[in-house]
Amino acid sequence: MKGLLVLTALFVAVFGKKTFEGDQVLRITAKDEAQISLLKELSEQEHLGLDFWREPIHESLPVDVHVPFHSLQAIRAFLGYNQIQYNVMIMDVQDLLDDEEREMVKYRSFPRSTDDFVYTTYHNLNSINSFMDMLVAENSNLVSKIVIGQSYENRPLNVLKFSTGANRPGMWIDTGIHSREWVTQASGIWFAKKIVTDYGRDPVLTDILNNYDIFLEIVTNPDGFEYTHSRDRMWRKTRKPNSGSSCVGVDPNRNWDAGFGGAGSSGNPCTQTYRGPSAHSEREVKAIVDFVKSHGKLKAFVSIHSYSQMLLYPYGYTSTPAKDKAELHELARTAVSALQSLYNTRYTYGSIITTIYQASGGTIDWTYNQGVKYSYTFELRDTGRYGFLLPADQIVPTAEETWLALMAIMEHTRNNPY
Ligand SMILES: [Zn+2]
Repeated sequence: MKGLLVLTALFVAVFGKKTFEGDQVLRITAKDEAQISLLKELSEQEHLGLDFWREPIHESLPVDVHVPFHSLQAIRAFLGYNQIQYNVMIMDVQDLLDDEEREMVKYRSFPRSTDDFVYTTYHNLNSINSFMDMLVAENSNLVSKIVIGQSYENRPLNVLKFSTGANRPGMWIDTGIHSREWVTQASGIWFAKKIVTDYGRDPVLTDILNNYDIFLEIVTNPDGFEYTHSRDRMWRKTRKPNSGSSCVGVDPNRNWDAGFGGAGSSGNPCTQTYRGPSAHSEREVKAIVDFVKSHGKLKAFVSIHSYSQMLLYPYGYTSTPAKDKAELHELARTAVSALQSLYNTRYTYGSIITTIYQASGGTIDWTYNQGVKYSYTFELRDTGRYGFLLPADQIVPTAEETWLALMAIMEHTRNNPY
């Protein structure tokens, strides 16, 4: 019996899932530049194991940080000593994860069609793959699945192609390039079903699909996504090992050849914003790069993240305004007001560098420089109450409202050919 217990403990240690009992997420409100500097120093203390959900950038933006239980006392003391204000956003991270898991188990089923599929819960990679296969089988005249490459762990990089004719220009949507942003992949599933439901019914979408192909990559970082289900719910990066470091993975939204290596990305493999050894070093990124180049006629490119409720356009790596800034800004305004019309969810919008912070090597800066004028990034719900752990009952409302903004962008793209 004792042997069995030891074996069980060993099994959990080797194969188990990371737990977060007693961990908290704090929202820190720095009052000046000096306090921001202190927080930046804190973020470099690797032994504390802090995970900044929103990094210290400027005193106008709140800082959200996931603090492991073992560092809580030290962090509270540090903040108190330096008179830095904070409040507890998430009292116990594991409690939220347990709720999430319970919800998933409740709806675990093997639907026989996409009509039976449960859109109101989170799904693992197998379940999403079977959803895509069902959708293609049910709508073979409209949807196909293309494989644009393989992940580091050799998973297929699947893209749904919605098309009603050959040689059309295209519009691209991706979700889940940061694997822990689960509401994005869940919204991607909902978008896919929405497209096949509305084609032939909604005149605007029908007209768009009669003139453009839509490409949708739901699980853009499949290795990371699998890892969020099996080992560590809070995993953001790819899963490629880094030579000379025990830390794994690259931030796939700092890995693009647009200001690569500049400010707002890290050269330290142990950070969440590690840019990688070179531009396009990650297969998950390179596959999209090759696809965009070989397609040659993408007219809109939307990359979807969470959280913060923002709609952003280039640039992130430079403060030089994009040459189409006025049009991109106006379209963002239209899209955000369409989004807000459904549930009164409020978004901010603007260029990445002016709205959040300088970030180099980002997806849409690269696509924009490739000539895809309508390049946007969303940061979906919420503004930090749950952060990356958005309860499943918000999936469908999030997808519904986001769809209105996507339609505004796609409709504008159709109306303004270039
Ligand atoms: Zn993200």
